[in-house]
Amino acid sequence: MSLYSTDALDTNPILRTIDSRNLVVFGDVISPAVHTDQSLRKVLTFSNNDNEAQIPWYKTMNLIDIFRLAGYHTTWISNQEALSIYGNAPEIIARRSDRVVFSGFGTYNLRHDGVILDLYDKLKGMDNHQKNLYVFHLMGTHQKYARRYPLAYDVFSAKDIASTWLTDKQRSVSAQYANALLYNDFVVSEIIKRFADSDSLVFYFSDHGDEVYDFRDFLGHADNMASRFMVEIPFMVYMSDGFLTRYPSIAECVQKARNLPFMIDDFIHALLDIAGIETLDFDSTRSVFHAKYDAKHKRKVYGRDYDSEMKQVARRY
Ligand SMILES: [Zn+2]
Repeated sequence: MSLYSTDALDTNPILRTIDSRNLVVFGDVISPAVHTDQSLRKVLTFSNNDNEAQIPWYKTMNLIDIFRLAGYHTTWISNQEALSIYGNAPEIIARRSDRVVFSGFGTYNLRHDGVILDLYDKLKGMDNHQKNLYVFHLMGTHQKYARRYPLAYDVFSAKDIASTWLTDKQRSVSAQYANALLYNDFVVSEIIKRFADSDSLVFYFSDHGDEVYDFRDFLGHADNMASRFMVEIPFMVYMSDGFLTRYPSIAECVQKARNLPFMIDDFIHALLDIAGIETLDFDSTRSVFHAKYDAKHKRKVYGRDYDSEMKQVARRY
C-alpha cells in the first residue's frame, strides 16, 4: 500500500487524501499468525499468542457478545466464505451477532468486495438503534489477486513493477496484487464515507499479510514459511469530525499511539478501552491506546520474536 511506502505504486489515491486528523495510519502493527482463522480467533477474543495454551479462543469471551451486553446492536457483513475450514472461528463468532449477512457461500463464487457496500446500504435503512457495531469482513487482497477487482481497476501491468530479479510472470502477478490494493483503497474509502457524517470510529486492519516475491521466490502465506511480509499489516483508525469534536481526549490517545509497536491479538483490549466498556478480562497493559500500555512487550509469532528475529530480513528490489 502506498500509504506505507513512498517507493510503492500509487495504490491509495483516495485514502491518502483524507486529513491525518481524521485518518490515523499506524506504522508498526503485525498479526499474530499468517492465516485468517489462526489470526481472527485471537483478534476477536481474549486468547492471544502468550496465553493460547491456557486460554483457547472458545473458552473466553468474544467481542460480539461483549458489545451486545454493552447495549450495542451488532451486524456482521462478510464477503468471505459462510462455511469453510479457513474461517471456522470467525464464522462462529460472526454468528453471535444480532444480524449476519454473507455475500456468498464458498470460496470460488465470491464477488468483489464492493458487494459489502450494497449489503450495508440495504440494512442501514432498517436501523434505528442508538449504538451500533458493524463488522465488514472483506476478501481484501487474498489470492488469486486477479479475482479481487473489477475490470476498471486493471490499471497496473508487468511493466510497472520495478524489481530487477523477477520473471515476466512474477511481474504480472505483482501488478495484479497492486490492482487488488487499488480496488481495496476504493472499498475502504467508501466504507469510511458512510460513517463520516455520524459520531463514528472506523478501524481498518488486515488479519495477515501476503508475501509477494518480497525477498525470495515465494507468493502467499504459509505458517511453516512465516516471514515479516506475512505478518506486517495495515492498521488505521478513522475518526469522523463529529467524533473529534465530541471526544478530543480519545482522539489524542489515538494520535499518540500511531507509532507504537502493536500486535492485533490484543485488539480486543484496545477496542474495549476506546469504547469505554469495562470487563474483568480487560488488561490496560495490552491496549495500545492506554497510558499503561506495555510497548516493550515481546511480539512472538509461532514462537519467533518479530522485532529481534523476523524483522531482520531485508526486502530485495
Ligand atoms: Zn486470510
